[in-house]
Amino acid sequence: MSDAKPNIPPTATIKLDSDALVANWRALDRLSGKAKAGAAVKANAYGLGVRDVVQRLMVAGCTDFFVANWQEAQEIEDLTAGTAGVSVLNGVREADLPFALRSPAKPVLNSLEQVQRWKPSGKACDIMINSGMNRLGINLEDLEADLFAGMSIDMVMSHLASADEDTPQNEDQLKQYIAALKIVSGKRTSLANSAGIALGSAYHFDVTRPGLSLYGGIQRPALEDVIRQVAIPRAEIIQVRSLRPGDKLGYNAQYIAAESHKVGILAMGYADGYLRGFSNSGLFMDGGIVLPVLGRVSMDLIAIDLAAAPYLEEGDWVDCEYDLEIASAQSGLSQYELITGLGNRLAREWT
Ligand SMILES: *Cc1c(COP(=O)(O)O)cnc(C)c1O
Repeated sequence: MSDAKPNIPPTATIKLDSDALVANWRALDRLSGKAKAGAAVKANAYGLGVRDVVQRLMVAGCTDFFVANWQEAQEIEDLTAGTAGVSVLNGVREADLPFALRSPAKPVLNSLEQVQRWKPSGKACDIMINSGMNRLGINLEDLEADLFAGMSIDMVMSHLASADEDTPQNEDQLKQYIAALKIVSGKRTSLANSAGIALGSAYHFDVTRPGLSLYGGIQRPALEDVIRQVAIPRAEIIQVRSLRPGDKLGYNAQYIAAESHKVGILAMGYADGYLRGFSNSGLFMDGGIVLPVLGRVSMDLIAIDLAAAPYLEEGDWVDCEYDLEIASAQSGLSQYELITGLGNRLAREWT
């Protein structure tokens, strides 16, 4: 007798496009000019599945990965050790040392305390400079070259707060970062995230750190024609019903039929990350045919209008309109929230 659990077919999935992911990394690497693109794969590669993403990007030639914490570094250690660098952006706490000291990943040291904590190890590290975002990083006025004497510093980096906007803050941060590089030096320099790559060569330095745009996010016109959609949520129609004029639909009757038409009920909802902001505003698609979301999104269910596709039946599948720019406008959520929020109940299906 086998203990294997029976394979239950999912009712909702995310279709993930390997070619688009790799093409996006290559495009960002090319747009980075003389710099080499790494990849921000924190938060389970923005929710898409860190091991699947790292494997594909390593094949494409990516050799620098950025995660948030040591659990995330551990998750990809067997894939990256000896072949690619992993930087832990949130730094190293005392409690991380037992793991961190024997990990091939590098901490990004964010404070003078962290510098002192790591120094005795003699192991490689990166340094984060606070150039004006005031999140993590060492302040310029606290920098002194001899603080780092004898340390093996790979990247000296900083992070842009508003690269998706045309604002003087970008140039201010660039100046602060360049001033810091005169005091602390490592093997390599790194400043730009996805949107920062589109700010031009002055922002590229040696290594860029795209995240969002790898996964299909577009925040600047220069990325518009090069970045492809990677993730498409899909759901099965688990019930079809006919509404008559005056029929109310879903919680709090946020849609009332004006005429007779069919609706499809999909097995997806806000518990899958398809949040309430899509109520009466999201779209699903059958090929080129648009199927608007009707009424309020429930936890596990969504209703869509089948007026334009009355041939659809229970058991048919439809694609969610999840181009991140469009979905962001529909829902009021940021592109980051849209991609990282996709729930674990959605089976990841890589093409
Ligand atoms: C998340 C993050 C990135 C990637 O930013 P995107 O805007 O997603 O491209 C790069 N660097 C640091 C320090 C980050 O925290």
